[in-house]
Amino acid sequence: MNYTASANRYNAMTYRKCGNSGVNLPLISLGLWHNFGDVDISENYSKILHLAFDKGITHFDLANNYGPPYGTAEQNFGRLLARDFKSYRDELIISTKAGYDMWKGPYGDGGSKKYLVSSLDQSLKRMGLDYVDIFYHHRPDPETPLEETMRTLDLFVRQGKALYVGISNYQAEDAAKAFQILNDLGTPCLIHQPKYSMLERWPERGLLDLLEQEGVGCIPFSPLAQGILTSKYLGGIPDDSRAAKSSGHLQASSITEAQLQQVRALNKLAESRDQTLAQMALSWLMKDQRVTSVLVGASKPEQLADSLRSLDHLHFYQEELEKIDQILA
Ligand code: NDP
Repeated sequence: MNYTASANRYNAMTYRKCGNSGVNLPLISLGLWHNFGDVDISENYSKILHLAFDKGITHFDLANNYGPPYGTAEQNFGRLLARDFKSYRDELIISTKAGYDMWKGPYGDGGSKKYLVSSLDQSLKRMGLDYVDIFYHHRPDPETPLEETMRTLDLFVRQGKALYVGISNYQAEDAAKAFQILNDLGTPCLIHQPKYSMLERWPERGLLDLLEQEGVGCIPFSPLAQGILTSKYLGGIPDDSRAAKSSGHLQASSITEAQLQQVRALNKLAESRDQTLAQMALSWLMKDQRVTSVLVGASKPEQLADSLRSLDHLHFYQEELEKIDQILA
């Protein structure tokens, strides 16, 4: 299948400046954690990628261990890049990460220079790239001095293997220390990637203020709580859902009745706004200007198309916000 990107691809997307940097990110970015591995169907994920780019999604988020098996999301993405997106490389922001379990032995996990250097080299090879646009340390590693990890991020920028660096899953206190080290090295942190959604609000307790103060962007991951913040689980667990798949990271047992009651109430509110719940959950994050981009996943092109329509309705009345807080209290 030959792919030519839509000529209108920049007509409908909004782009926000990432912190104090010169980089703009689309309000919606696409993550390849699920649905792009060797267990998934190539024709389906090709369509998702094509739709994303056709709608102005210029930012694709990966990590060394996305798949399954580990590494295959990068490999499959690399194959599609070479086949369909070669001439668009300069229109893309491609991110990868290392920090979690990747290979056996003492050098395949954590935050050591040894691990990160090998991992980024492997990621570049798998994707067929000379550089990534953003390289993240995927999670704080209390076993490695923060200096060592941040120096390695700085090294990647100096080597030209990454244009920018970011951190993910760091609490505010550790993030502040990391920013200070990176600033001293002359490689300011571009972006922080926290888990943030209506059901996971820890970034509101200090992190978002810190990011604003430091001029660092914010890209919430799992904004739909892996699908819980949609209407899909209201009538049970659908066979093709993440919670039903053995390769999915969402456990059916973690979807509780108490949570579903909240989701039902949120769904009703979304209907009153003429949105799907997925759209409302995304708009709710984007209403905060400190959020640069919202990092969604999709198992079908139709889901991404649905999520993209959140851009049409970003405004919330005060009463709606209060109602949401009340439902989630
Ligand atoms: P979401 O919360 O957006 O969940 C995505 C899932 O929700 C889809 O796979 C699909 O599930 C369902 N879904 C998506 N859109 C819709 C819709 N419109 N209507 C109904 N269902 C929908 O995000 P993810 O958990 O996938 O995370 C997004 C990205 O964030 C990842 O790909 C990754 O890049 C990043 N991430 C980073 C982490 C980190 O530690 N830094 C950790 C986790 C994720 P279904 O399969 O059931 O159809």
